[in-house]
Amino acid sequence: MKKGLQCSFCGRWHSEVATLIPGPGDIFICDSCVDVCKSVVDNMLGKDRALPERIKEFRDCVTGLRALLDMKEITQAEFDAKRKKLLEQLWKT
Ligand SMILES: [Zn+2]
Repeated sequence: MKKGLQCSFCGRWHSEVATLIPGPGDIFICDSCVDVCKSVVDNMLGKDRALPERIKEFRDCVTGLRALLDMKEITQAEFDAKRKKLLEQLWKT
């Protein structure tokens, strides 16, 4: 027996969710799937907002390291190692 409309994302029936929002054609999304999608999008936006700031910090650190290298305070190998570590931190989430 057909139970009526179903969420196209999680497969729950209309009777099992608070709201089903219709999409184009024959697809629907329920309120809890909307919540999940919203937190995913918020997360992505949050990271995107933070990224330019982190890239700026990275560049400032590398500029500082390069100055130390120019003054022979650190070796090229130390510079490369520290720069590599900074890069790893930049992309670590
Ligand atoms: Zn759902």
